[in-house]
Amino acid sequence: MAMPKQQDYYELLGVSKTASADEIRKAYLKLAHKYHPDKTGGDKAAEDKLKEINQAYDTLKNPEKRARYDQYGHMGEQFAGAGQGGFGGFGFGGGGGGGFEAPFDDFFDVLFGRSGGTRRRPSSRPGNDLEYRLTITLREAATGAKKKIRFARREVCGDCNGSGATSGTQPQACVECAGTGQVRRAQGFFSITQTCTRCRGTGRIISNPCSRCSGSGRFRSERELSVDLPAGIDTGSRLRLSGEGEPGDNGGPRGDLYIFVEVEADEIFEREGNDVVCDMPISFTQAILGDKIRVPTLNGEAELKIPAGTQSGTAFRLRGMGIKDLRGYHKGDQIVRVQVETPTKLTREQRELIEKFQAISNDKTYPLYHRFLEKVKKSLGG
Ligand SMILES: [Zn+2]
Ligand SMILES: [Zn+2]
Repeated sequence: MAMPKQQDYYELLGVSKTASADEIRKAYLKLAHKYHPDKTGGDKAAEDKLKEINQAYDTLKNPEKRARYDQYGHMGEQFAGAGQGGFGGFGFGGGGGGGFEAPFDDFFDVLFGRSGGTRRRPSSRPGNDLEYRLTITLREAATGAKKKIRFARREVCGDCNGSGATSGTQPQACVECAGTGQVRRAQGFFSITQTCTRCRGTGRIISNPCSRCSGSGRFRSERELSVDLPAGIDTGSRLRLSGEGEPGDNGGPRGDLYIFVEVEADEIFEREGNDVVCDMPISFTQAILGDKIRVPTLNGEAELKIPAGTQSGTAFRLRGMGIKDLRGYHKGDQIVRVQVETPTKLTREQRELIEKFQAISNDKTYPLYHRFLEKVKKSLGG
């Protein structure tokens, strides 16, 4: 494998062979700033230069590597990994893939124009919101309910504190994009910004991924929550559980969990705002004679008095037996619409009785029918 001839690291950084660690660091920061893609507009030569500078600094900032370099020059680096990492390690200079990871923190010093003092962390971002669709019964909507929900979300890996790098190591800023996650490429007159393919936009490279989370810094887990649904909730209601969404990046807060409520159709009741309507069959004798009947309600049963002579379709109102208003103290009503059931299968005896009843009925028995006939006669010009 042919290696291109490399420039001397001290020359690259513009320092003497006896320079102190601090002098080396200052020289590096100055150069890294100068050749940063944001300054050079993604110039390819500058990018290559930056890689060389990073490589030089990575060696010279480490006393062991620097001593080896002083003794063996560039050849020393090829063996650098062997003593420490053994097989499988990502040794510098071995792959020829152009990959060098600059120290993360140093890079952010460059990005934010600092050369010492407190180190700025990369900008934090809040996590994504999550959605959950919750179906409840009408009775639950009417009275309010405590519901257990289970959903999958990601958690920050505790082994690596979300960095994705195995304990004791740090993610390194991606050299391709200088930790920005974006690369600029010149195209004719334009320069376009694209997501860095090397780090997939994260700005970081992890050489020794955490084994628990495979370097993602997150793992999927099931979360169980108890949700309090207020009485009066309806289809289309949205509840926000703040801080129950996906974890944020770089210490950013968690996103929120939005619960979208859907109230199932009920077999007996139909909701109309805060009222509930139920159609209840009654017998034609109950309609004629009147009766006290039991009607189902949202929370049990109630008694309803049917007066004698009740017509089919008459609606009775049970006050305050409906659904509580979501934003107030008012409670809706239950409306019972009675439907008079006409018997279809009669015994001989029943039939005889009905026929007898029919025989002794007259206009007074059926005043509505009688009045209707009068109207018809009139309209036909009688
Ligand atoms: Zn981890
Ligand atoms: Zn990158």
